[in-house]
Amino acid sequence: MTDDRYDLAVIGAGSGGIAMAIRAARHGARVAVCEPGLLGGTCVNLGCVPKKAMWLAAELAEAQRLAREVGFDVAPGALDWPAFIEHRSRYIANIHASYRRRFDELGIVLIVEHARFLAPDCLAAGERTVQAAHVLVATGARPQRLAIPGGELGIDSDGFFALRACPKRVAVVGSGYIAVELAGVLRALGADVTLFARKERLLRSFDADLGTALAQAMRAQGIGIALGHVPVAATRAADGYALEFDNGLRASGFDELIWAIGREPNSGRLGADTIGLMRDARGYIAIDEWQNTNLPTVYAVGDVTARPALTPVAIAASRRLADRLFGGQPESRLDYANIPTVVFSHPPIGTVGLSEEEARSQYGDAVKVYRTGFRPMLAALAQRDEQTLMKLVCVGRDERLVGIHLLGPAADEILQGFAVALKMGARKADLDATVAIHPTSAEELVLM
Ligand SMILES: Cc1cc2nc3c(=O)[nH]c(=O)nc-3n(C[C@H](O)[C@H](O)[C@H](O)COP(=O)(O)OP(=O)(O)OC[C@H]3O[C@@H](n4cnc5c(N)ncnc54)[C@H](O)[C@@H]3O)c2cc1C
Repeated sequence: MTDDRYDLAVIGAGSGGIAMAIRAARHGARVAVCEPGLLGGTCVNLGCVPKKAMWLAAELAEAQRLAREVGFDVAPGALDWPAFIEHRSRYIANIHASYRRRFDELGIVLIVEHARFLAPDCLAAGERTVQAAHVLVATGARPQRLAIPGGELGIDSDGFFALRACPKRVAVVGSGYIAVELAGVLRALGADVTLFARKERLLRSFDADLGTALAQAMRAQGIGIALGHVPVAATRAADGYALEFDNGLRASGFDELIWAIGREPNSGRLGADTIGLMRDARGYIAIDEWQNTNLPTVYAVGDVTARPALTPVAIAASRRLADRLFGGQPESRLDYANIPTVVFSHPPIGTVGLSEEEARSQYGDAVKVYRTGFRPMLAALAQRDEQTLMKLVCVGRDERLVGIHLLGPAADEILQGFAVALKMGARKADLDATVAIHPTSAEELVLM
């Protein structure tokens, strides 16, 4: 057993853990990071990065079809998955190498082991004992499975990234952002996809208009959307996977089954109970607005907490915590209000602030909504009946922006700047006073 002493020990080298380790080391802290898996955690290896790569491939597949429709002499070709995955893997390997380099430059000690608490300031990591003045838990989350017969069959988002060819007939179970993203990618790359959702709407935590508009767009692309289908069993037979639902319906003949029904925190194997580290009923580590747990000197960030499960959130929370603990900035903490987010569906969605429903329940009649729908130019040129949705949710006599909800081409890129405006307290009149950029989709936001 080696007895190592550090200013900070980080459990998990995902988005949050790496950001904390690097920022703390830059402030001069002696840092150790325990991570049994690949550097970068979910985002780099099984989330945002490989997902965006697949989305970009899907966009290219769609662009080929559009090009043909507007007059290009091209025959849309199928994706060579192994070749594309080599590009994807090379990109990811470069990220691993860049993290390694930064760890080495900053003297961050990487312990390639699973860690668990022996005491609030002491971890067991393989054969080593790691002592630290401060400990950050950044262990993330993992895909959930349903506790139903056959719930272990098929794959989840982790398995999606292990696919080496496009499955022909796919059932996707779920209605959140990962479900719609995977369904959209597979459809664009040629699969016959059916999405089974438990409730009556997709993306239920988003503004209702977005879920409705996305379902319409997905159906137009040929994706089957079965709402109100609660799976009660899954089976596998010679003709593929089958699903049974609580409404008595059955669907069969799928050569891939993908569960995208949510994620659960990696907090069960940490020794949390040994040291009295508080978790909520769902296993998320309980924190206050400073990322403090109930134990002084133990903190948590990212998907292992019940905060928005997004990479930039984990990174921002970590950096501010490192500034507070090691950078002489006692007031530093993340403001969790108005976090923008994108769904890489086809077309993409960008959203920030309150949904119309949330705004009405908070502000009642003081809410005013501006909404526009139009055909994006390329879709119009190709005589496709595709619609873009843009929605502003405003409050009060000065019409302060409290929500922006976009669905359409480039919504993913348009949103960031408008999110800055919303966070700064922009009013509808500020948008009106801004001259449009023409011809773009974004200009509609200042012309409503
Ligand atoms: C399919 C998918 C797509 C996504 N797309 C996006 C996106 O487009 N944009 C976005 O912002 N977010 C996206 N996310 C979410 C994003 O990946 C997470 O919010 C982010 O990775 C959370 O970072 P984290 O540091 O909390 O945890 P993680 O990145 O999950 O890292 C946790 C790390 O802890 C390690 N670990 C666990 N237990 C222990 C232990 N006991 N000891 C040592 N190490 C341990 C794990 O091996 C892992 O490497 C996506 C997620 C998924 C699954």
